[in-house]
This record gives sequence, C-alpha cells and structure tokens, in this order.
Amino acid sequence: MTIRTRFAPSPTGYLHIGGARTALYAWLFAKQQQGTFILRIEDTDRERSTPESIQAILEAMDWLKLDYQEGPFYQTQCFDRYAEVIQQLIATGKAYRCYCSKERLDALRETQQANKEKPRYDGHCRHLTEQLTDQPFVIRFCNPKDGEVVFEDAIKGEIRFSNSELDDLIIARTDGVPTYNLTVVVDDWDMKISHVIRGDDHVNNTPRQINIFKALDANPPIYAHVPMILGEDGKRLSKRHGAVSVMQYREDGFLPHTLLNYLARLGWSHGDQEIFSRDELISLFKLSSINRSPAALNTQKLLWLNQHYLKNAPREEIMPELIWHMQRANIDVTNGPTLIDIINVQAERCKTLCEMVEKSRFFYEEVEAYDPTAAQKNLMSETLPVFRYLVEKFEALGNWEKEALHEIIKEAAAALDVGMGKIAQPLRVALTGNTVSPPIDETLALLGKEKTLERVKQALVFIDS
Ligand code: GLU
Repeated sequence: MTIRTRFAPSPTGYLHIGGARTALYAWLFAKQQQGTFILRIEDTDRERSTPESIQAILEAMDWLKLDYQEGPFYQTQCFDRYAEVIQQLIATGKAYRCYCSKERLDALRETQQANKEKPRYDGHCRHLTEQLTDQPFVIRFCNPKDGEVVFEDAIKGEIRFSNSELDDLIIARTDGVPTYNLTVVVDDWDMKISHVIRGDDHVNNTPRQINIFKALDANPPIYAHVPMILGEDGKRLSKRHGAVSVMQYREDGFLPHTLLNYLARLGWSHGDQEIFSRDELISLFKLSSINRSPAALNTQKLLWLNQHYLKNAPREEIMPELIWHMQRANIDVTNGPTLIDIINVQAERCKTLCEMVEKSRFFYEEVEAYDPTAAQKNLMSETLPVFRYLVEKFEALGNWEKEALHEIIKEAAAALDVGMGKIAQPLRVALTGNTVSPPIDETLALLGKEKTLERVKQALVFIDS
C-alpha cells in the first residue's frame, strides 16, 4: 500500500497546537512509511477563510519544518471537480434536489423536538418527480436508510453508526457551494489518501463520508481519530488557556523542536521516553500507540524540554531562533559577544529564548540605571577600594580571559581581606545593573576589557556622587 496522508486545515485562524499535533502525526506516519504528506487548505467557507490565516498556517508549518511533498492545494480551486462529482451522484440517483423552505424545515424540527426525536431531515424531496426550475434548492445526499456503517479506527478501534441515525445531508448549498463532507471525500478520493489522521471532533462525520465514498464506488481510506488536547485544568482547550497558537510558542521563546517533541508526546508514547530526535520520532511513531483518551497540557514539562534543548541542541539549530528573538528585542548583536558564546553561557540558566535575550541584553547595551535595591546593597563607599583595585588590575591585564580574570578576583579578595561575594556581587551590579548574571569571570570575559572598565568607572562615579 502506498501511504498518503494529508493535513487539511480550514484557514479561519492561526495554526493552533491541536492542528499542529494532527499535522505532526500525519507527517510522521508518512515519513516513516516512505509515503507522501500533503497539505490541503480547506478554504471553501469564503466568509471565514482569510489570506492571513493561510499565511499563518504556512508559516507555522514551515517553522516546525513539517514539509509536504504535495501542495498546498486549495479547495476553492476545485469547484469544477466538486460540481462534476455532485452531478455524478445526481445522475446515479445518489443525490437529489431539495426545495424545502426554511419554514418547512423549522416546523419539522419543532415537531421532532416536541416528540423528543433527534432533529433530522425527513427525506421529503427524495422522491420528487418534478423539478421546480424556478425555485431555490440545495442538493442532498441519499444516505442509506438501513444497515450500519462500521469502520476500524486505527486509534479508537471499531466504531459503528446506524444509518437510521444519519439523515440526507446537504452536499451543495443553494448558491451551489459544496459542503465540507462532500469536498473532503472528493479530495481524499482524488488525492488517493490512504490514511485520514484528524481530530476526533470529526468522528461523527466519518460514517457520512464513508457512505459518500461507497456511493461513488470508491474505497474509503483508513481513519485515525486523534483525541483532543485539554488545557492544564483538564477542560477543553481554548484561548482562555493562553498560548494555543503555534507561533505564540515561538514568541514565548520555545524552539521548534521542543514543540514538536512536546506535541508528539502529548497523546503518544514510546515507553517512558521523553526526549526524541526527529529521526527517532519518525522511526518509533505508531498510530496504535496514540492514547485513546485526551491529553492535558503541561507547561512545566514544556519548559523543562525547552531547557533541555537549549542546553543540548546543536548550536546551529538554536542560532536562527536566537537571532530572531534578538531582533524582536531590538538588540544590536554586532555590539557584543557572539551568539554561540551567549548560548553556551546562558543555556544553563534559561528555560526560554526570551529569558536568554533579556538576561543577555547588558552584554550589548549600556547600563542605563541600576536596580535601586541592588545598588543600595552593593554600590556603597566600602565598594570604592574594591573597584579601584580592580580597575588597576584590569587595566594592566593583557590576556582578557576567564582564568586570568578569576585570578584577579581571587587576589582582590585576599588583598582587601573580603569574601569573594563582596567583590563579585558589586561587580555584577556595575556590569549588568542587577545581581543576576552568569559566573562573574565568564561575564567579564564575554563583556570585554573596554566595556568592563567603562562600567566599573561609571559605578565609581555613581558611588562618589
Ligand atoms: N478542514 C477540517 C478542519 O479543519 C479538517 C477536515 C479533515 O481533516 O477531514 O477541521
């Protein structure tokens, strides 16, 4: 069997993490089986689809490096094909025009509700012999009246629906625009999709789609319905839960591979392994190992994973993201240490790239003001001899390196008979404006001789004034 999967988002908003996870599973499965992964934009709902959303989806797929071998295809470019299939269904007696007015349908629904019946179309126009050319109409699919639709879901196992539960669904609206259940079948059929991997909010559509496949004498694909993602509170995920858009995670300072690893594990597992490279995900992924129950978000775990990758991912993978964040923060990275050095010195103490950027700003920008509490505690008259001593030693130092700088601080502590902390902490405030920085010798080494001296002298002036 040739494996062909697709991701079929409706461009009515950004790509949210639920969609991204579905896309990831479809992508992983195709990659692993040396199949084809297809991107199909389901944009037939013209009122709700926007070019901005299409752009946002493409951008997010790109950021996650979920590459597609075919597409993006756009459903709005396939209306002729949908019309052709609808005609075929009408010609073979599998679909019909329905002229029922809104009033009739409303009255029908009310009666059914009053009788505690499930609201459904009663097939009134199914056997009309006369076609009313001047009346508006929709096209309905003749759903089989009897029997069952049974399919083996690759995640959930066997699923059964009785045909008596399904009514004759509308496949084209009065304006001729085909509806979701029709277009999805035509495309899955034409694109020879072998596995439909999608959110389980579509389970109820599946028997309808299978019936349309059968009416077209076509074989339905294998379906795999992925359970929902829940918020940290166990409730259905919504905007209320904060970041749900993939690109928001980028803005919040996560690496694309962190998010991929996290989403893969959110609802799928391979023993208790947590860290997966891309290649491992591709080789180990199994549809049958996707959990049957919904998975809840866990921000702590996401942060932990991100820190793991900040520490361990190849620097060239982190670099483009760090550059992106530095630019967003308006930091001129030509005016300071290399970004490789920044990653090496900061990864240990940062969970996100945003944190890394903010904690590194002082390397590139002047200290405009000291944190008042830090200054009060550290930049006082007792600090004067310490700083004077350091200025002298720093000025004389030829090899501006971590080890030599460490020696100077040690010597200063001995010479002035104070603890190392009494030197490192005031120095930190002078250099960064605050009391947090990487180890002081590394900070000094990276900041460079010129900036260090400038800032220590600036602090001397501050203390004196
Ligand atoms: N366009 C549908 C959606 O975004 C997905 C349809 C499908 O995967 O079958 O919910």
